[in-house]
Amino acid sequence: MLNGSRVVVTGGAGFLGSHVCEALVEAGADVVCLDNYVTSTPANLDRLREGTGFTFVRCDVSDAVAVDGAVDLVLHLASPASPADYLRLPLETMRAGSAGTTHALELARAKGARFLLASTSEVYGDPLCHPQPEEYWGNVNPIGPRAVYDESKRFSETLTSAYRSEHGVDTAIVRIFNSYGERMRAHDGRAVPTFIRQALAGEPITVAGDGSQTRTLCHVTDTVRGLLAMAQSEHAGPVNIGGTHEVTVLELAERIRAISGSRSPIRFVELPENDPRLRRPDLSRAVRLLGWQPRVRLADGLAQTVRWFADHGIDGVPTGQT
Ligand code: NAD
Repeated sequence: MLNGSRVVVTGGAGFLGSHVCEALVEAGADVVCLDNYVTSTPANLDRLREGTGFTFVRCDVSDAVAVDGAVDLVLHLASPASPADYLRLPLETMRAGSAGTTHALELARAKGARFLLASTSEVYGDPLCHPQPEEYWGNVNPIGPRAVYDESKRFSETLTSAYRSEHGVDTAIVRIFNSYGERMRAHDGRAVPTFIRQALAGEPITVAGDGSQTRTLCHVTDTVRGLLAMAQSEHAGPVNIGGTHEVTVLELAERIRAISGSRSPIRFVELPENDPRLRRPDLSRAVRLLGWQPRVRLADGLAQTVRWFADHGIDGVPTGQT
């Protein structure tokens, strides 16, 4: 289905977006990537620029989204996504979720294209139910610091659902859980790149709280396969896409230290406000509807990611954010 199709990817220069664009081009799609580089770098697109089937348009999707010609599929990923980014860009994040999502939906509506929203496990907030199935409505503090992201994504989901019922747009919602891998930014504040950067620089590895909070990580190649499986299905979702191996943040720090061959000490720092305690997707819907499940073992994915950071260099500025 992707071969020969024309696909618009908002946020396509980002960590997930650049891998999505590469997978689409590999599958034979003609890709139009819209991005303003607010949380990414042009270097993420180097490989794509070398080939054919890829066009980049620099624009802010919160202002407008315009694409000439036919479009079969719109994948809407544009939004600051790491806590460090959305805490630095609170209003831009809310504009991307509200105006940006409206513009991306309007494009899909005008072109008669399928629309996929990259939503997040953060819609579950600090969950009172574990693991989290799609039926769970979440536990979000609407005026907490993380709300600019969580509530923007919840609003995006509602807007997407309203375009489906009101305008008949063929929509899909994917709730992505913590993904990791090559091209994360060393300073984006998320646990994996922070720990790798600190381990490789021989600096203390900063674990928030006592490190007993959990995350379930999914390698980027698995996340991208899940997104594209959903995009090619007829399902509306929401569908959780995430990993299966739940680890405590302390265990994650220790694993990364061991894989890096580092002797960095672990340093415990203050837990950020409203940090979720437990995070693990119930993946039964993804398995049942899409026949999808993650394949990359955490040990292999982490080793690959550490290698990538070692090859690409890190500059070693410490951060307490995880
Ligand atoms: P990222 O920050 O690397 O990528 C986001 C991209 O969107 C960047 O290239 C950024 O420049 C672009 N962007 C942001 N606002 C924009 C705007 N107004 N106009 C144009 N471009 C804009 O983040 P990511 O990790 O690749 O996340 C991509 C999407 O997936 C986000 O919507 C995020 O919420 C969602 N998601 C990611 C994860 C994860 O673990 N990486 C988990 C859940 C959800």
